[in-house]
Amino acid sequence: MNIVVLRETQAGEARVALMPESVKKLIGLKAAVTIESGAGTNASRSDDDYREAGAEISDDRKALLQGADVVVAVNRPEDLSKFKPGTIVIGFLRPLDEPAALKPALESNLTTFAMELVPRITRAQSMDALSSMATVAGYKAVIIAAERLSRMFPLLMTAAGTVPPAKVLVLGAGVAGLQAIATARRLGAVVEAYDVRKAAGEQVRSLGANFLEVDLGGLKTEDAGGYAVELSDEALERGRQLIAKHAQTNDVIITTAQVPGRRAPVLLTQAAVTGMKPGSIIIDLAGSTGGNCVLSKPDETVDVNGIRIFAPLNLPATVPVHASQLYSRNITSFLTPLIKDGQLQVDMNDDVVGPSCVTHEGKWMNQRVAAAVAGS
Ligand code: NAD
Repeated sequence: MNIVVLRETQAGEARVALMPESVKKLIGLKAAVTIESGAGTNASRSDDDYREAGAEISDDRKALLQGADVVVAVNRPEDLSKFKPGTIVIGFLRPLDEPAALKPALESNLTTFAMELVPRITRAQSMDALSSMATVAGYKAVIIAAERLSRMFPLLMTAAGTVPPAKVLVLGAGVAGLQAIATARRLGAVVEAYDVRKAAGEQVRSLGANFLEVDLGGLKTEDAGGYAVELSDEALERGRQLIAKHAQTNDVIITTAQVPGRRAPVLLTQAAVTGMKPGSIIIDLAGSTGGNCVLSKPDETVDVNGIRIFAPLNLPATVPVHASQLYSRNITSFLTPLIKDGQLQVDMNDDVVGPSCVTHEGKWMNQRVAAAVAGS
């Protein structure tokens, strides 16, 4: 079986789906790996690095696609209709955000697996690419904030007097939010955080941050999988009021709140933003799903009376080596159980494989995606 790694074509993408260390592992399972020439360049991995790991290199994309049994990618390839029928495609396919874009995969009889749909069960932890990328994004958001803020993060006691620490508010304390809290704390900031899930409180406090609680009157805020559910407008409004109050005293706000498959909740209103101190910074990590701040614009910087709002769309791509390393390990963990003696054996009844599948043999395998396509 031949596993093909494509060069990413999306603007600004610097990650690669497999790093040479993973190529070696897959070749150890008797698979062949072919890399599209230059696929690793932006993640500091040359064609020679891949050759040394045992891969073939080709710059003929058409021939690569015709010879592929499995294609692994970071982002959904734009040329799915040119893939050979029956090819397995694995990557961030955005099945719930852009379901209609997967119609060519259905029409070409591709078997597609979306890393976004890998269930968060214990056995699949090593395949959890969403967590890997959220970790990178949470870290990098704080680094950007620290670099752009006109103040320092740590408390400093100098001969010229005391410099107070920066204050950071993190909205949404999932994987990205917790990493942002940890990173801001390491830089010496005073941190507080808000999340609708009560369970997040303990994790926030264990990182040395203050947890902001809102009385939602016993409302159910999370589903069986541990994800937040979409809240009523009234419940959201209670959160917004508390956030607006705390926004006045913080130098940096990092927002990470998401509800899977839905628009991101609006947590920062215009009044909350204009109530912040001039020079404050907002980093909105929910830009790709509509943003947590009502004023943020995806991939742009907005300046409101000296308060700057950034909504970067792809922070993991700005840390391409480590983001690729983590992603590559996630992909390899997903692929390994599908390879037996160098041959593909895909068991759709497996409790990780089945739920991750979007299309197979010309059918939608995921009911949520099928419903989203029908409604689009
Ligand atoms: P996510 O990216 O979907 O959301 C980020 C955070 O936003 C979540 O903590 C969510 O509660 C919060 N949020 C949503 N709506 C909000 C609102 N209106 N106000 C404030 N906060 C809001 O989530 P995620 O980071 O991918 O993970 C969420 C959950 O999944 C957590 O419980 C996490 O511990 C769990 N998880 C489990 C595993 C595993 O078991 N393998 C792996 C990763 C994450």
